[in-house]
Amino acid sequence: MKEITTCPICNSSEKTTFLKSRNFRINEVVFDIEECSKCEFRYTSPLPSVDEIGEYYATDNYVSHTGTKKGLVNKLFHTARFFTLRSKFNLIKRVSNGKKHLDIGAGNGVFLEFVKEKGWDVSGIELDDQSRSAIENRLGINIAKTVYDNQEIEKYDVITMWHVLEHVYDLKKDIETIKQKLKSDGALIVAVPNCDSYDAKKYEKYWAAYDLPIHLYHFRPKNIQDLFAQFDMEVKEIQPMKFDSYYISLVSEKYKNGGKNSLGVLFRGFYNGLISNLKAKSDSYSSQIYIIRKK
Ligand SMILES: [Zn+2]
Repeated sequence: MKEITTCPICNSSEKTTFLKSRNFRINEVVFDIEECSKCEFRYTSPLPSVDEIGEYYATDNYVSHTGTKKGLVNKLFHTARFFTLRSKFNLIKRVSNGKKHLDIGAGNGVFLEFVKEKGWDVSGIELDDQSRSAIENRLGINIAKTVYDNQEIEKYDVITMWHVLEHVYDLKKDIETIKQKLKSDGALIVAVPNCDSYDAKKYEKYWAAYDLPIHLYHFRPKNIQDLFAQFDMEVKEIQPMKFDSYYISLVSEKYKNGGKNSLGVLFRGFYNGLISNLKAKSDSYSSQIYIIRKK
């Protein structure tokens, strides 16, 4: 474990502790969420090393990565994700000037497969060895392990990162590399949780999208703008991910109730997910999609 002493966005060492919470899925190790006094970015500290973090992913509860279907909450989540595929594809179709697509953090490859079936030229990057070979076998395409293994320069019309940026250790080095892969008129699509949302404020330390320690960063819209401005890129548009508020509220409600599911947990989780969407302004949804372009 390593203390993070400077802000990952502005490098300032001045900070206050915004929140103390813990891991809820594997163990009860406690982590801080620090808030930079200069740019207000919130980040996790201390952090396990790249080798140590693996144990926190090693669970079949982590549905968004493993694709398992256990329990009602996970089933709801998977159903929602299925309906989300179409809207994700409609988004990339709208913002892209061509059909060359790169999905970073391809996970189980479901989105890549969907896009490929629409006749697009797809590429993927996936760190997990098992997931990567599964996609390669199913889609018959090569998947790179990291952004550095993919050698393309100014090739892609659209690059997607669905709930990936909050996981990456070399934040700025990765963004610089990703930017080089994007055509000058290309679009980078970044989806991340928003800790300024109603459900984040409602659940505080139990908010499931803090997901300590595997979420290294806790973005708000201003942070995304600050970060990409350093690379001469700008946020052109923000879109909500309305299913996420339900899933995150359900899991948060479960954490708040000692990890147990009950009808009460399901009802309150669903209710708070609904309220979160109803109260949200254009940039305060539980999870948001940022459409980013080169200046
Ligand atoms: Zn900062």
